[in-house]
Amino acid sequence: MTRFTRATRISAIEISEIMQLTEKAAGLKVAGRDVVALTTGEPDFPTPDHVVEAAHQAALAGKTKYPATLGTAELRAAIAAANGVTAAEVIVTTGAKQVLANAMLASLDPGHEVIMPAPFWTSYADIVLMAGGTPVILPCGADLGFKLSPEALEAAITPQTRWLMLNSPSNPSGAIYSAAEIKGLAEVLARHPQVWVLSDEIYEHLSYVPFVPFTMAAPALKDRTLVVNGVSKSYAMTGWRIGWGVGPAELIKAMGAVQGQITSGACSIAQAAALAALTGDQALLDERRAVMLARRDRMVAGLNAMPGVTCPVPDGAFYVFPDLSEAIEKGGFASDAELCAWLLDEAGVAIVPGRAFGLPGHARISFAYAETDLIKGLRRMHAALETRLAVTL
Ligand code: PMP
Repeated sequence: MTRFTRATRISAIEISEIMQLTEKAAGLKVAGRDVVALTTGEPDFPTPDHVVEAAHQAALAGKTKYPATLGTAELRAAIAAANGVTAAEVIVTTGAKQVLANAMLASLDPGHEVIMPAPFWTSYADIVLMAGGTPVILPCGADLGFKLSPEALEAAITPQTRWLMLNSPSNPSGAIYSAAEIKGLAEVLARHPQVWVLSDEIYEHLSYVPFVPFTMAAPALKDRTLVVNGVSKSYAMTGWRIGWGVGPAELIKAMGAVQGQITSGACSIAQAAALAALTGDQALLDERRAVMLARRDRMVAGLNAMPGVTCPVPDGAFYVFPDLSEAIEKGGFASDAELCAWLLDEAGVAIVPGRAFGLPGHARISFAYAETDLIKGLRRMHAALETRLAVTL
């Protein structure tokens, strides 16, 4: 029998730890366990009615044929207008994730390096690896506000560096770069014209302090910046799979060449829905942000009341990223992953270890869940840690 062997470039890649834990929690629930899963980055709100209605109408109107590879003219025009660019600088993709994949496949050759501050969203490193590049991970702990400094960036750049991947507001830390911080990084990048910037702004509308778009603070870098955005988080449309990239036309064209050979373009009906989301009533963004802000404050307070846990206040997105190193040490755990596995077994609470985001000793807890689940999760975690730390001290 012929054994299957993986391609070298995907030998280290698995289904993300977030998905694995989510599936494990779901399996335990099916088996009758009372599990609170706080693992996924998915708003618990429904997709707005007018958006669903627009999809229905699009399907009835026969918008069911292959879409243009780079996106429908209407949606590209709306995104271009919102970003102050031409449609040639816009590509619509199957979820924001595909912007990243298209860009890396379109630009990386073996040996090319991609700098990413840690903690980073789990898929960043894997997408770079799949495209044959090398992730260069720069740890940025809570003492740095989970943000990259100009000095650390300068020290990491080599002639092989092709991209800097930034994510503000950040998944998982919630950190938001200020205009001054972006300018500091831009000054370094001005000296290294071979380095492009991928600015992932998908949590733009979930900011609890003023959000600064990268190109607004660093306009001089616009001709080498790719902005990533989409409807998944802001409009509760994760299942519709619509994202977009905004960047220089030559890059967009190359990304379109990749996309044309992989998906032929994003779902036509979902694009009509995304257009309705972008052009319809925006009041829901404020309403939902207010709900998330209240949840954030409850989570931060609840976590800081637990033994061995220190939780900084996130400025954006819908995650908290507490430091668990004291709980790990005093509880006799070998790692963040071991603590999280124990928490699931012992307390029926699923959270994702920091190692999945390149910064061990922490965990990511999503608060895009109903209040009742959050409170239940906090209570259980608190009780379990109190018992464990009291016993082992
Ligand atoms: N970027 C970040 C930072 C994310 O958190 C996510 C989703 N978890 C994505 C991109 C991908 O979004 P989408 O679901 O639209 O592919």
